[in-house]
Amino acid sequence: DKDINKIMPEYVKSFQFENSLLPSTWIVVRIDGCHFHRFSDVHEFEKPNDELALNLMNSAAVAVVEEFNDIIFSYGVSDEYSFVLKKDSWLYERHASQLVSAIVSLFTSMYVLKWKDYFPHKELKYQPYFDARAVCYPSSDILQDYLAWRQVDCHINNQYNTSFWMLVKSGKSKSEAQKCLKGTFAKEKNELLASQFSIDYNTMPVMFRLGSSVFWDKEEKMVDEAEVAGKFRKKIVVEHCNIIEKSFWKEHYHILE
Ligand code: ATP
Ligand code: ATP
Ligand code: MG
Ligand code: MG
Ligand code: MG
Repeated sequence: DKDINKIMPEYVKSFQFENSLLPSTWIVVRIDGCHFHRFSDVHEFEKPNDELALNLMNSAAVAVVEEFNDIIFSYGVSDEYSFVLKKDSWLYERHASQLVSAIVSLFTSMYVLKWKDYFPHKELKYQPYFDARAVCYPSSDILQDYLAWRQVDCHINNQYNTSFWMLVKSGKSKSEAQKCLKGTFAKEKNELLASQFSIDYNTMPVMFRLGSSVFWDKEEKMVDEAEVAGKFRKKIVVEHCNIIEKSFWKEHYHILE
């Protein structure tokens, strides 16, 4: 038998290599639900967009933003969320595995914990889980391009899914609906929605079209005699804004400053 006193910690620890993320870059941790196609079927999510399920995702994201002060912005759509850490964050000494695992496990436990608040009459039938990765973006322009890419993805998927499910709900089989939409452009999908279903795509709920952004916003302090006028406090907001437009980043310059 091995004498436990002979195990040298320094020797064992020497096998542990930390994957440190590049300093002075914006770290994005993106989580994504594993097999949510099935999870959303089993839990009978409304297709193509279950509003309560999206609100549940948003509230789990708010909890993550509240817990980790270094998260300056996050963007979510469908079963995914991207969390952006400030450029000079030193959270977990920028060790990727610790950062990613802490964020994704907190998100998952909040999702499960809050399930009953959003679905009081729907049993959670099995345990959801999420995967996650960390990517570094070296400039605020590239970071904005990353976020724009996720919102473009949201837009394209939503347009496809909305058209697809309208066709299915109107009696087409899934493969027929797929055939109908194959190779169509955004404009044609909008025309199909307008002509066949009298739906103006641009009037659909903004959360479905633009996804959700969670961030600390500045808010004028409540008028309080004791307080100095003009002081700001920050609060977490959930908004559905166009983050592709550069004007958003200009108006909210404090996020990336
Ligand atoms: P993977 O494990 O590779 O991520 P996945 O099944 O989760 O596979 P995704 O590409 O992540 O696939 O897509 C998520 C799926 O979850 C969507 O296709 C959609 O059907 C479903 N989904 C997620 N959120 C909602 C929602 N709010 N309302 C309806 N369906 C949703
Ligand atoms: P960090 O976030 O750095 O890991 P920590 O508070 O989790 O900080 P650890 O070194 O991981 O610190 O130690 C875990 C602590 O949790 C222990 O100090 C102990 O007090 C407590 N703990 C964990 N499991 C048990 C248990 N089964 N019974 C009693 N206390 C426990
Ligand atoms: Mg995935
Ligand atoms: Mg997924
Ligand atoms: Mg996904």
